[in-house]
Amino acid sequence: MMELMLLPGLAGYEDRVRRSLERRLDDIGIDSRSDRLGNLVADFPGEGPSVMLFTHMDQLGFIVRRIEADGLIRLERLGGVPERALAAQEVLICVGEGRDVPAIIANKSHHATTPTEKYQVVPYADLYVDAGFSSADEADGVGVRIGSPVVYAPSAVHLANGRVSGTSVDDRAGCAVLLEVARQLQQRRSGPPVHLAFTVQEEFNLRGALPLAQSLEPDIGIQIDLALATDTPDMDARGDVALGGGPAMSLYSFHGRGTLNGIIPHPAMVHLFETVAQTIGIPLQRSAQTGILTDLSYVQYVGDGVASIDMCYPMRYSHSARELCDVNDLVSLSELLTAALAQIGPNFSLSRDDYT
Ligand SMILES: [Zn+2]
Repeated sequence: MMELMLLPGLAGYEDRVRRSLERRLDDIGIDSRSDRLGNLVADFPGEGPSVMLFTHMDQLGFIVRRIEADGLIRLERLGGVPERALAAQEVLICVGEGRDVPAIIANKSHHATTPTEKYQVVPYADLYVDAGFSSADEADGVGVRIGSPVVYAPSAVHLANGRVSGTSVDDRAGCAVLLEVARQLQQRRSGPPVHLAFTVQEEFNLRGALPLAQSLEPDIGIQIDLALATDTPDMDARGDVALGGGPAMSLYSFHGRGTLNGIIPHPAMVHLFETVAQTIGIPLQRSAQTGILTDLSYVQYVGDGVASIDMCYPMRYSHSARELCDVNDLVSLSELLTAALAQIGPNFSLSRDDYT
């Protein structure tokens, strides 16, 4: 996971991450293929309703909007960038493997800030990036152009108690979980057909997984992404999800700001994960949040409808350059997923009447 976090993969520019995942799957003897958008999928044949188990490999960030004559760079945002956590961050302008350009997002000299400025968030459009260039030509000379992708400078740090922090825990943590599930699926004797996928452009428009779902036409959709950990003082009133408290399932997600979509999970899926978690003795946390959305929201409407659920690991500080999760949660999430998949056989019912 730490290595995956160190790979830049802005939405629409996931190729380095995809190639790395492809190699990792290959190393454990699993063939994978990718579609035109860059979604990567490994197919495990089986019997019963088919499952699309997926997670996104892209991350949010920026695009170079303008290069000033003096070499300073302006950014356009890509995805849900938290503007109040941008100033003084280190970023990486991705111009090509081995040639990427480090830079920093400027923060006005403290000695010159007025009393009101001290408590103001500077909108991203007013921020500028300093890569040390003294002219636009210099930027151009190393390949920095309008449209170049920019990400938070990749980082991955081990903290106490198996916790890790760094860039794009959302959703390289999910990628790490799925690699582990793939390893388990490779060794299984029986089970449902599983299409295990690493998808693109979630942070951009939540629809990168859609063409893949349309071609796979799965009966069941399970997406792995973060659940908001609510055990910090600033999140207290929002829920009951504790970091290190085990995996979580989302009972409700909705995004009302511009995108009217979300997931009300299929009762068969809720029942499956509740019973399996109990059987194998893994604590399962419950999450219900507005303001959250994943591309499963769109996948659920493919074909005749897909029985869907978001399965999650708790995470703190979402979309900042320093997200944080607990590796123990990732391990138990992959165990839970593997055990749940094993319960989906030819007789597994997706009829709502059997559960409601
Ligand atoms: Zn995510």
